[in-house]
Amino acid sequence: MPSPQQSSILPTYARSSLTFERGEGAWLVTAEGRRVLDFGAGIAVNALGHAHPHLVEALTSQAQKLWHLSNLYQNPDGERLAKRLTEATFADLVFFSNSGAEALEASIKMARKYHSANGQPERFRIITFEGAFHGRTLATIAAGGQKKYLEGFGPKVEGFDQVPFGDDEALKAAIGPETGAILIEPVQGEGGIRPVPTERLRALRQLCDERGMLLIFDEVQTGVGRTGKLFAYEWAGIAPDIMAVAKGIGGGFPMGACLATAEAAKGMTAGTHGTTFGGNPLAMAVGNAVLDVVLAPGFLEHVQQQGLLLKQRLAELKDRHPAVIADVRGQGLMIGIKTHIPNTELAKAAENEDLLLITAGDNVVRLLPPLVIAEAEVSAAIDRIDRACQTLEEEMRQPMKGAAE
Ligand SMILES: *Cc1c(COP(=O)(O)O)cnc(C)c1O
Repeated sequence: MPSPQQSSILPTYARSSLTFERGEGAWLVTAEGRRVLDFGAGIAVNALGHAHPHLVEALTSQAQKLWHLSNLYQNPDGERLAKRLTEATFADLVFFSNSGAEALEASIKMARKYHSANGQPERFRIITFEGAFHGRTLATIAAGGQKKYLEGFGPKVEGFDQVPFGDDEALKAAIGPETGAILIEPVQGEGGIRPVPTERLRALRQLCDERGMLLIFDEVQTGVGRTGKLFAYEWAGIAPDIMAVAKGIGGGFPMGACLATAEAAKGMTAGTHGTTFGGNPLAMAVGNAVLDVVLAPGFLEHVQQQGLLLKQRLAELKDRHPAVIADVRGQGLMIGIKTHIPNTELAKAAENEDLLLITAGDNVVRLLPPLVIAEAEVSAAIDRIDRACQTLEEEMRQPMKGAAE
């Protein structure tokens, strides 16, 4: 492993020293044969785990035929995937991108263009929420509004007004004549697995309808089965006008999508937006293969069952380790453990037990396992978190020993 000084990769990430050679389902394997249980799934990306045979087959057989075409020609697999996504959701139309941030950029541009097409180009402002994360492009860091991501990158992109999470009065006060849309994650991911209550999502829908605003959901992390529904908005019984999707949709192949109603998309005519790679045949082949599995009967029920089991078992751990675990929250297989100690310490202790977890805001550690996990893997993860908590408690009892090491 190169030291940070030797690495030629731009040092924007503080990486773990772990180096993996291959993966099988929910497991990652190092060159030395160390097996690590992956409850991060590449940040909710490897929805079907590592090296899923159906995805491997889809990618390798497509790789023999055609890799890339651009969007200048017909795209039968893209047409098929878009049709399947629209049939399974509120949406009428799909734009394929390569990442979550690009799916958000398309969503933001679409909302602005909608009002422009309606003769109200001044309605370009979008309301977002504290603790949000929408990506790392200039517009999406402005939408996310987090100081640490904005600092030093020049003037913040104009047109995003942020309100505190869960403050209805502040939200209503922020709406002005230039407000065109509300953008929200149904469950904040990077913000610390903070679910938006169902009633609040419904209230947002109503507010948007009353004020002629578009409702945009960022389902980059919550989508494609993560919460136990194909998309998290289904839990609330309402639908957005525009939705950004990525992460799980490609099962590990870089891919995103912006889904929308025909009405919301009406400004997006030929030439208004584009991408060289988006909708690439390799991505479309894998995207269709992911949907084959996620839409199969019983799959989402499996996610719900494993999610409930995991949450129950974590609640037991919270009772056993009250000095470490403050709260367990989330939906489906998108679960957060809020810790009393720094969240990085629990994530590190879990890594020492060969379990990968991911930190998030609000001092939370995220569990985002592959959606295909079996009960045995839930149990294995629980045992490892249990041992990690024991180790942390022992260190708390002997603070000097920990400090001397
Ligand atoms: C990861 C994420 C993004 C950004 O996706 P990228 O593929 O990293 O650009 C946007 N929104 C949410 C909710 C995310 O979790």
